[in-house]
Amino acid sequence: MSLHGTYDDDNIFAKILRSEIPCVKVYEDDVALAFMDLFPQSEGHTLVIPKQTRSRNFLELPEDYIAPFMQRVQKIAAGVEKALTPDGLVITQFNGAPAGQTVFHLHFHIIPRWEGQSMKGHGASGQADPGELEGVAEKIRAALS
Ligand code: AMP
Repeated sequence: MSLHGTYDDDNIFAKILRSEIPCVKVYEDDVALAFMDLFPQSEGHTLVIPKQTRSRNFLELPEDYIAPFMQRVQKIAAGVEKALTPDGLVITQFNGAPAGQTVFHLHFHIIPRWEGQSMKGHGASGQADPGELEGVAEKIRAALS
């Protein structure tokens, strides 16, 4: 899928927003939803998505939504850092399939990194155990509360 096109209401994150499929939630308010990546590139890999917009990528995010949404991305990143005390954090997002995007509802990845530990490649990790994800999410929720 290219950078330009029509928002698909049946994309997997739209379904998560409508609670049609589950997610391991760490934070939600009127602007953003954050949940654990089901195929984590490292422990604590968290996704942050905007709620009140049908933006497929960052270029489509309405200008007046950028500040409140990025404030949530920073807030969740701070919670991940507090909960898991990584040595570094990758905060990234992909726009369009050629750039690596696979789900076409805007999302930011927050990926903790530890010295000496390699990170799995984007789209190259297996599905996590939901119980383990829940344990990590609990720590992040506690850090955010
Ligand atoms: P991207 O490839 O940048 O579009 O990122 C999509 C991300 O969504 C990937 O890191 C996937 O592992 C993740 N993902 C796909 N399906 C789910 C799901 N049902 N719940 C949580 N994360 C998912």
